[in-house]
Amino acid sequence: MRKTIVAGNWKLNGESSLCNAFVDAAQSFDSRATEVLICPPAVWMMLLAEGLASSSWQVGGQNIASDKSGAFTGEISASMLQAAGATYCIVGHSERREIFGESSAVVAQKVRIAIEQNLTPIVCVGENLACREAGSAEAFVETQLLESLKGIDSDKLRNVVIAYEPIWAIGTGVTASTEQAQAMHAHIRSVLSQSIDVDGELISLLYGGSVKPSNAKELLAQNDIDGALVGGASLNVEDFLAIVEAAG
Ligand code: PEP
Repeated sequence: MRKTIVAGNWKLNGESSLCNAFVDAAQSFDSRATEVLICPPAVWMMLLAEGLASSSWQVGGQNIASDKSGAFTGEISASMLQAAGATYCIVGHSERREIFGESSAVVAQKVRIAIEQNLTPIVCVGENLACREAGSAEAFVETQLLESLKGIDSDKLRNVVIAYEPIWAIGTGVTASTEQAQAMHAHIRSVLSQSIDVDGELISLLYGGSVKPSNAKELLAQNDIDGALVGGASLNVEDFLAIVEAAG
């Protein structure tokens, strides 16, 4: 019922040679139920989208502007991303929130714009280590989720994907245990159903935070984990393919 999705987030990494390596890998990959997408730096979007067009793999943005157009130097709009071939867009990644000061209100605006432009937003939420250690991770993620989806019609939310990415697990090599990840995903699903008028059972929930070939299978086997958002391991074709394989 729910889509299984494996998404690679290259962040500020990767050259055209990496695009070519992934295009080659995708051609020889049997398409299967798992939806696979790569979110490259925006300058590589067209190159990658064109190369992947004959495969089942898709491309997505790492971020979008919170406005549709105008005097916003350096920004890239949802419609520009879509014109370049993107079908998805990561919104509210913790690096955007922490380094670039994006509030959940801005994230909600970006989610709305992505949906209007027929881009599927992958909305990221996740607590930092202090919050986890204080025992308030669930409450924090619940508030962040509700604020990041605030004001969006429930019929539109059906098309949203949520990524749970504990900040303490991103790029650190430390992964949330399967129990921690599963418990938070179950919590997110129940918040979606109970506090927002959307059926949480229909929403794909991805886990992100040091996913690698060695832990992907166990994480992805959990009932409420429907896929992975992969940073570091998405820069290596073999590792990324192994994670896609683990998704089934
Ligand atoms: C990410 O930044 O979305 C991420 C999950 O990174 P990593 O896999 O490197 O922890």
